[in-house]
Amino acid sequence: MRTIQLHIRSSLPKNLEPLWDLARNVWWSWNSNAINLFRRINPQEYEASGPCPLKLLNTLPSSTWDYLKEDNGFLEHLNEVNLEFKNYLENGITKVPEYKSENTIAYFSMEFGLHESILLYSGGLGILSGDHLKTASDLGLPLVGVGLFYFEGYFRQSLTRDGWQNENYDLNDPFYLPMQLVTDKLTNKPVLIDVNICDKKVFSQIWKLNVGKIPLYLLDTNISENSPEFQRITSRLYSGGQEQRIQQEIILGIGGIKALQKLGISPAVYHLNEGHSAFLTLERMSQFVKKGLYWQEALIATKGTQVFTVHTPVPAGNDAFPIQMLSKFLGNIEYIYGIPENEFYNLGRSPDNHSEFSMPVFALRTSGHRNGVSQLHKKVSKKIWQPLWPRLLENEIPIKGITNGVHTRTWLCNELVELFDFYLGKGWDAKLNDPHIWKRVENIPNSELWNAHITRKSRLISSIPKSNLDAEYLTIGFARRFASYKRGHLIFKNIERLKKIMLNSERPVQLIISGKAHPADNLGKEIIQKVVQSIQSENLNSRIVFLENYDMHIAQKLVRGIDVWLNTPIRPLEASGTSGMKVALNGGLNFSILDGWWDEGYSPDLGWSIGGRENIYDENIRDERDANSLYDILEHEIIPLYYSAKTPNEWIDKMKKSISVLTPKFSAHRMLHDYILQTYLPAAEFHENWSIHSEGQIESLKNHIKNVQLLREQWKEVEITRVELKPSDTVIIGEIVTLQLELRSPFPENWLEISLVLESTDNNRGQYERKDVLLTCVEKDPVYKYYIYAVELETENPEIRTYSMRVCPNPILFPEHLDLDLVAR
Ligand SMILES: *Cc1c(COP(=O)(O)O)cnc(C)c1O
Repeated sequence: MRTIQLHIRSSLPKNLEPLWDLARNVWWSWNSNAINLFRRINPQEYEASGPCPLKLLNTLPSSTWDYLKEDNGFLEHLNEVNLEFKNYLENGITKVPEYKSENTIAYFSMEFGLHESILLYSGGLGILSGDHLKTASDLGLPLVGVGLFYFEGYFRQSLTRDGWQNENYDLNDPFYLPMQLVTDKLTNKPVLIDVNICDKKVFSQIWKLNVGKIPLYLLDTNISENSPEFQRITSRLYSGGQEQRIQQEIILGIGGIKALQKLGISPAVYHLNEGHSAFLTLERMSQFVKKGLYWQEALIATKGTQVFTVHTPVPAGNDAFPIQMLSKFLGNIEYIYGIPENEFYNLGRSPDNHSEFSMPVFALRTSGHRNGVSQLHKKVSKKIWQPLWPRLLENEIPIKGITNGVHTRTWLCNELVELFDFYLGKGWDAKLNDPHIWKRVENIPNSELWNAHITRKSRLISSIPKSNLDAEYLTIGFARRFASYKRGHLIFKNIERLKKIMLNSERPVQLIISGKAHPADNLGKEIIQKVVQSIQSENLNSRIVFLENYDMHIAQKLVRGIDVWLNTPIRPLEASGTSGMKVALNGGLNFSILDGWWDEGYSPDLGWSIGGRENIYDENIRDERDANSLYDILEHEIIPLYYSAKTPNEWIDKMKKSISVLTPKFSAHRMLHDYILQTYLPAAEFHENWSIHSEGQIESLKNHIKNVQLLREQWKEVEITRVELKPSDTVIIGEIVTLQLELRSPFPENWLEISLVLESTDNNRGQYERKDVLLTCVEKDPVYKYYIYAVELETENPEIRTYSMRVCPNPILFPEHLDLDLVAR
């Protein structure tokens, strides 16, 4: 039987038509004035729709519109929001003067969490991508997003009576989403791109979803041009097996590049959020090869403009495919992409497993800029990935740390928006990374902040039906994916102690838990079941609730309403975590393991830490220590402070400190500024200098590559032949010492960088932070390959220092210098 769908849009009176524009851009979802506008149309229907404004506009009867078109209050409100929207699109709230608008950044991600009605995310990674786009829009950054359109999205969670997770899939109906199909201007037909999978053409259509000023392009294989099997490639996020996953990643990476080209977008910078999109490198290299470059040259040209963000130190989070699977789905690499098959596979093989192609390994080797998502995660990543750069010391591994941040407007409650407008001054959201503005949080009277908080907490609690929770009680939130490293069950470790704390009648404590397990993660589902069963069997129902189907809506309610946010990952497996940041800006206090962002955010005046900074590898000892620490702090610090008075002023002081210090530091605005300075700008510069626009650039690129090859071939001749301190290796404070280094090298002087690293000092003032000092050339004789370099050292303290020398290619001439893995010491 053949079926066909006819979509009939409602028709709005002329003066209400601007509602369509507002509904077709996710901007409405982070603008409280716009939210209130849609809500007032019909509050019940608004909630019932998702909330999803396009659905609301398309389902209400015409009598609603007949009434509203004459409602002057409504029309004025509409006009105001519409002006605000137009003004936002034109000006935004801030600009990034240092970044050129023609250097488009293409941001690739498997998931995007923009709003609960748009089912394109599963958890933290997606929310981060969504916040990245929204912030790029606020900043007026020239960025486009690239992802997949999943017509069944991610699953909806429901629990059986005994706590087992069931998964159901809702339809992600394009008709109601703020996006349009990209069509050809002349023929009006959908624009299609095709990608080779299993030696067949797989077609994708392209949706354009509007995120403020930022377009997000979503590829969709669910079209009649494809066989039913290929139509299902983009059916669901993180579902199905490895074969579906690899096909999705081929569509995202290779299809994504083709889609951008088809749309006439030629990015200067490519940002790979996680390794899922890394096949884009294959397509980009292939296009350079087709322009006449050797594959090695193509790799250099590609790499300099790629930014790769690695997100997890947990091995299960890292995608890897058997090599045979790659050759099955990608086909003959040499024939289709012009790159020698084995050379390509080698780029993705990790040193300890040659039969697998690891997406993060491939992305690390083919992206010139790499970063972890917190400072601790940077350190952990350097350790994990050190085998990829065998000649570098751990702290030299070229992976930066750019700590995640959250989009303040999306997560902040209205009550605080109003307080900030009044006490910080309107326009505070344009100065999100200015700590001076945030000092003014001190000026908010305690009673006003507390009232705002209690309002949100009451709203949270009244939204949980059939519970006995009470807004007066100390309320703790715990919500996140139930991956086993997050230890969702830790707080139940000593059930008697927990009951004593929670059921105390004078100082009761409540806990709200929420979270999904990955559909294939039975361990995670067992943890959920254990949690639910513990609540039931121990009669903790009056104090602990599990909210089904954790999503952005529940997350918003929780982070805005709870008093304390609990996070108990196994250190150091939480790369960053972001929900605690959302809590902090709303005045909630963090109570967490010193892992991810909290390792750098924590200080005793802002919140509480569980356990310590040492990593314990024995599971039982670790859980025991962390659980005890959790109960102790709860009993002795958190509960007494919360219940110290009806309006607990010391608690409120802590809230203010936490808001004022953590909001700017962990905002996505700060994060984007870090990405711009540390990765987008240098990548764009590489694009301007090296990427092929003209014949001249091909020549200079080829020349550059010749030099790189020379470096490789003759590097073994580089040798430090003598190091000496003058006048002597023992001096008196204040005397100037010169360090001289004699070098043998076949290369021109400016090809090399000679640096000095202060490794240690033995006067018990602790290890020095690594500090590099550059040496300058003072004497040379190129014919004899003989150079002398020197630097003057200051001597301020009595101590014994150890220095080490390092010679590597000069990063100014060789932007990929550390990747070359050429070092002499
Ligand atoms: C913020 C958020 C997350 C991220 O959680 P973390 O455990 O802090 O990384 C996951 N899911 C949803 C729905 C969120 O809003």
